[in-house]
Amino acid sequence: MASSSFYDDRKYCLECDQYVPYLMSAEHSYCSNCGSRVQLFSKEDWSQFSENLKPRRIKGDSPDKKRDSA
Ligand SMILES: [Zn+2]
Repeated sequence: MASSSFYDDRKYCLECDQYVPYLMSAEHSYCSNCGSRVQLFSKEDWSQFSENLKPRRIKGDSPDKKRDSA
């Protein structure tokens, strides 16, 4: 059986530019490689994550397109 997912015990370190094992303190987590603060997601993953939180636009309700002046 596969155990926990890869991301469960790793966070993203900007310094190392990768997901790393981390040390937890009261408020923040720190990279076990370089000691920098780590975050839950990389920038790219975060933007994807927040993208998923946005309400989806309803298709068919497109705004008026700018028309080229004739
Ligand atoms: Zn690091």
